[in-house]
Amino acid sequence: MSIKYIFITGGVVSSLGKGLTSASIAMLLENRKIKTALLKLDPYINVDPGTMNPFQHGEVYVTDDGAETDLDLGHYYRYTNSPLSKKSNTTTGQIYDTVIKKERKGDYLGKTVQVIPHITDEIKKRILDCATQEKGIQIVFVEIGGTVGDIESLPFLEAIRQFRNEREKDCINIHLTYVPYLKAAGEIKTKPTQHSAQMLREIGIIPDIILCRSEMPIPKEFKDKISLFCNVKKDAVIDEVDVENSIYEVPIGLYEQKLDQMICKLLNLKCGSINLSKWKKMLNSLLNPKKSVTIGIVGKYLDHQDAYKSIFEALTHAGAALNTEVTIQKFESDKIVKNGSLIKEVKNLDGYLVPGGFGSRGLEGKILAAKYAREKKLPFFGICLGMHMMAVEFARNVLKLKDANSTEVDDESKDPVIALLEDQKQIEKLGGTMRLGAYLCSLKQNTKAYKAYKKRVVSERHRHRYEFNNKYKKLFEDNGIIFSGTLKDDNLCEIMEIKDHPWMVGVQYHPEFKSKPLAPHPLFVAFIDAALKKRRKK
Ligand code: GLN
Repeated sequence: MSIKYIFITGGVVSSLGKGLTSASIAMLLENRKIKTALLKLDPYINVDPGTMNPFQHGEVYVTDDGAETDLDLGHYYRYTNSPLSKKSNTTTGQIYDTVIKKERKGDYLGKTVQVIPHITDEIKKRILDCATQEKGIQIVFVEIGGTVGDIESLPFLEAIRQFRNEREKDCINIHLTYVPYLKAAGEIKTKPTQHSAQMLREIGIIPDIILCRSEMPIPKEFKDKISLFCNVKKDAVIDEVDVENSIYEVPIGLYEQKLDQMICKLLNLKCGSINLSKWKKMLNSLLNPKKSVTIGIVGKYLDHQDAYKSIFEALTHAGAALNTEVTIQKFESDKIVKNGSLIKEVKNLDGYLVPGGFGSRGLEGKILAAKYAREKKLPFFGICLGMHMMAVEFARNVLKLKDANSTEVDDESKDPVIALLEDQKQIEKLGGTMRLGAYLCSLKQNTKAYKAYKKRVVSERHRHRYEFNNKYKKLFEDNGIIFSGTLKDDNLCEIMEIKDHPWMVGVQYHPEFKSKPLAPHPLFVAFIDAALKKRRKK
């Protein structure tokens, strides 16, 4: 049986949730025993989002094989078990980089190198690479970033047109659009959708299914109008109404409109039975919590709603697992310090999470939050830079090393408790050069980390240049720190925790990347559990 392809394009406006929609459909098909893979094509020229500011791009999601990727891959991971690797995300930058390198090598000798066919051929190759990365993949979702009409996504659209032309029976196009409700006119408007489908037709792409994002269910007469103008079957106009409470409701809405069955039919695939009971049980627990906790996140990119996407999701998953509503209070770390101490709004919460980050802005706020949580014995979870600041705080205030710092901030610190990784010292280029991807971590028994994971060895994903400086290990240990996780067969610190504290744990890696709604991350669950215990005591 040949591999099938679903191309997802977006129309009218950006931020419609193409990634979430692709992931939701893939989840339904996977539940029907169809093996899927997903690929995100990003039209920007950066080779990857790794060098972009989180305010520009939101979170950079990291795969096991160390690719720094678009945050849509996080949705793919959370909703499905599809393979996720370097082959799951490609950008215009990567495509051109490959083609130009080939040209310099002389691979196109004699030819003029052009967008068609050379760039489009490289795009098509990437689609095939994603499809063949593992055996048995039956459907590949190809999500094209941006909005139809953007100049920069044209080569991608041309490539998928050609791809389909070469495999007519194995491809379908789903176009996700926005159908606005105009309050003043008291009417739903289909014109923007008509125009974006028209723009696709000009390129030679006719959608098989139109998914309409809207604030309310779209009445049949409007769907029929979209069908008529956009040249799709009446029952292939499907609405994707804004979910009320949780993004994990999206697959249920699509399932109820039989979208997954329609796709199987269009692609001539056997559609196995479906069982959504686990998913619905998780949703029920998420939507009807019996308990609640408030967690303060002390970060520095909180104004961008997607900059800590996986962290927010991981907290939601842990909350669902414990039937607990997790209310998040966001604190910009450079705005919470007044006259050397924390402002009162940050105090007395049920737990604190300090996420990863780069640079020196706002670090004192993070250090003070760690100090407060340590002294008041409130649950604290430090992730990557958060762990670094937990170590600096401990060194300054417990070990009395007043000048302790991370060399990321002060490379002349007398006590560099956090310092550049050995293999980072020679690196000059910024892009793709951090310690990236999955490494094994050995856990020490009888520790909070071990109690959470219940395993001797775990695999977690990394993205950093600095690490705990083992010169200070003994001193930290003698004063109440347990290094509960270390790089397997090495002594690089991966997890540190405070012995005499209900739950203060710092991790060098990013556990948030590996949390799923049906498999919440053990450390996030343990953290929320500690916050619940704290709340009960109040
Ligand atoms: N900036 C720190 C480093 O490079 C932490 C990185 C992070 O939090 N992901 O080591």
